[in-house]
Amino acid sequence: MGLDNCPECGKVYVENVARLCPECYRRQEDDAEKVMEYLRDTRKATMEEIHQATGVKHKIILRLLRSGRIMGDVSYPCDSCGALISEGRLCNKCSKNILDQIKTEERHQEHEPDVKIRSRMYGRD
Ligand SMILES: [Zn+2]
Ligand SMILES: [Zn+2]
Repeated sequence: MGLDNCPECGKVYVENVARLCPECYRRQEDDAEKVMEYLRDTRKATMEEIHQATGVKHKIILRLLRSGRIMGDVSYPCDSCGALISEGRLCNKCSKNILDQIKTEERHQEHEPDVKIRSRMYGRD
């Protein structure tokens, strides 16, 4: 167990599973309660609506969502373009773009030696 700076308030605290100082952890638990209560009635909401209704910070709502603390039909912005999504970190478009990018890179890597071989063959003709 080491000491770390709390990512929320910057205070030094003894490292723990929550990765927050006890004070911020308690606050996050309170926030989680508020969000869960809100979602119990609403069921479907955007992160912005939850923020407006509960006053809980976007950052905390996201953390709760990603850690699986709050369930429900919640939409939040895509990490890349800000489009509303309800799972993962990226919208379909952005994850497709990333996949395309990876594929293009793979194709480049596959093709390079190929091109060299072919030009060598042509050179011989
Ligand atoms: Zn803290
Ligand atoms: Zn996106």
